[in-house]
Amino acid sequence: MRQRGVVIWLTGLSGSGKSTIAVELEHALLDNGYNAFILDGDNIRHGLNKDLGFSPADRTENIRRIGEVAKLFCDANIITIAAFISPYKADRDRARGLLKELEFIEVHVKCPVAVCEERDPKGLYKKAKAGEVPEFTGISAPYEEPLTPELTLDTSKLSVEDSVITILSFLEEKGYVRF
Ligand code: ADP
Repeated sequence: MRQRGVVIWLTGLSGSGKSTIAVELEHALLDNGYNAFILDGDNIRHGLNKDLGFSPADRTENIRRIGEVAKLFCDANIITIAAFISPYKADRDRARGLLKELEFIEVHVKCPVAVCEERDPKGLYKKAKAGEVPEFTGISAPYEEPLTPELTLDTSKLSVEDSVITILSFLEEKGYVRF
C-alpha cells in the first residue's frame, strides 16, 4: 500500500468552511495520487442517516454512525475527510476512540458565529433567526469547542488555500503523505 488510512475530522459551525476546505483538500490529495474521500451531510444524512433529525439524541447517533463509517474507510487505507458540525465533544471523542492514536486528526474549523451568519451559504442562519430551523447550532443549540484539537483553522483570518496547506503539512509531518 502506498498510503495509510487516516481520518481528518473537520468540526465547526455551519458556514465555518468545513465543506469548502474538505473539497479543496480532497482535490489536492487526489491530484497527488492519494486516495481520499469525503464523508459529509450530502452522502450520509441523505442515505445511511436519513432516519435521524437534529435532536441531541439523533445528533449523537449521527456522529456515532459516522465514526464507525470513518473507521471502515480508514481501515481500507483511505484518507478520509469527515465534514460535520459534530457539536458535542463526547461524540467526537468517541469517534476518536475507535481509531489508533494519530489516525484521528481533529481539525477545529473555527469562525465567529457573526462571520458564519454573514456568509450564510445555505441561507440557514436567516431561517434560524426567523425561528424556522429549530435547534440550529450556534443560534439555538450548543457547539462545544474542541479543547485540544490537532489543528485549529480560523477561517475568518486564513484563506481556504492556507487552511488546506496547514492540513497537508500536518499530514506530511506525520508521515501520511509526501510531496
Ligand atoms: P460548512 O461546511 O462549515 O457549513 P461551507 O464550506 O459550506 O461551510 O461554507 C463556507 C462558506 O464560506 C463558503 O461559501 C465559502 O466560500 C466561504 N468562505 C469565505 N472565506 C472562507 C475561508 N477562509 N475558508 C473557508 N470558507 C470560506
